[in-house]
Amino acid sequence: MQFYLATSFIFPRSLRLRLFALCFFATHLPLIGYLLWGVSTGRVALAEFALLTLATMVGTAVALIGIGALLNPIHALADALHADDAPPSTLPEVGDVIRTLYSGVHRAAHETRNRIDGLHQAAHEDPLTGVLNRRGFLAELSALPVNRRKGCIAVLDIDYFKRVNDLNGHEEGDRVLAAFAARVAALMRRADLIARWGGEEFAIFFQDCIEDEASWSLARVATRMREDPIGAIHGRPISFSAGVCRWTGGPIDEALARADEALYEAKQAGRDRICRAKPLLLQA
Ligand code: GH3
Ligand code: MG
Ligand code: MG
Repeated sequence: MQFYLATSFIFPRSLRLRLFALCFFATHLPLIGYLLWGVSTGRVALAEFALLTLATMVGTAVALIGIGALLNPIHALADALHADDAPPSTLPEVGDVIRTLYSGVHRAAHETRNRIDGLHQAAHEDPLTGVLNRRGFLAELSALPVNRRKGCIAVLDIDYFKRVNDLNGHEEGDRVLAAFAARVAALMRRADLIARWGGEEFAIFFQDCIEDEASWSLARVATRMREDPIGAIHGRPISFSAGVCRWTGGPIDEALARADEALYEAKQAGRDRICRAKPLLLQA
């Protein structure tokens, strides 16, 4: 390793050229030695010198070609590692040790990446419903390019959900939560973000929508909840209330708080409805 580092000044960016340079120097050493001895003693025989030079050139050529050929699989290996490909078919030429090493590194890199993806998913997804969780929702929103950070924010809350648990048990409550998330997700566009905000509360970001469009989308969900109920409470289809607020890229907390106020209004007005946040000017 010390020699490797000590020779790095020769061709700092290319191991192949460094090997060639060393090989060139080493194969010419006998010739240089003979030449120096001959000059100092005045006994250089021309025929011997020519023969020695020829042999040195042939030896250098053989060494350079050999080193180049031996390095090819290692370069293929390095390229494959860089591109994260399967092991190249020329690997047997490199030897079993490197082959085993490569497979180990390749497998470990894959497992690490899968584990990181899994952790990222677990940190951003709600395990019960499969939609984003609060952290995932906020992360996706902040990752949006500036020109897409506008639309509507809605906060939804299932009506009288506690009674589902009380009347039919927690398992049925969990099933209703998952069915509600699936129902909402099925009726939203791909660009919209849906998250379980906590308990039986959900948040939606309607990308590039005005309040009318967001409210229509939610009304469509409400209609489906009546036509094809995901469950019933005292014989009535499970419903939800929602508050909608326009968001134009400012602090998201503000928009969420205003949507929450509109949700509170919807609950106060009797539930199973969608309310819009009051315009900022009217909020005193
Ligand atoms: P409202 O119409 O005013 O929203 O009434 P509500 O009963 O829906 O609201 P409340 O806040 O009184 O009750 C929410 C319940 O949701 C209480 C809590 O036990 C239940 N809950 C929260 N998280 C879960 C969960 O993950 N699974 C189940 N099964 N229940 C949950
Ligand atoms: Mg609630
Ligand atoms: Mg509720």
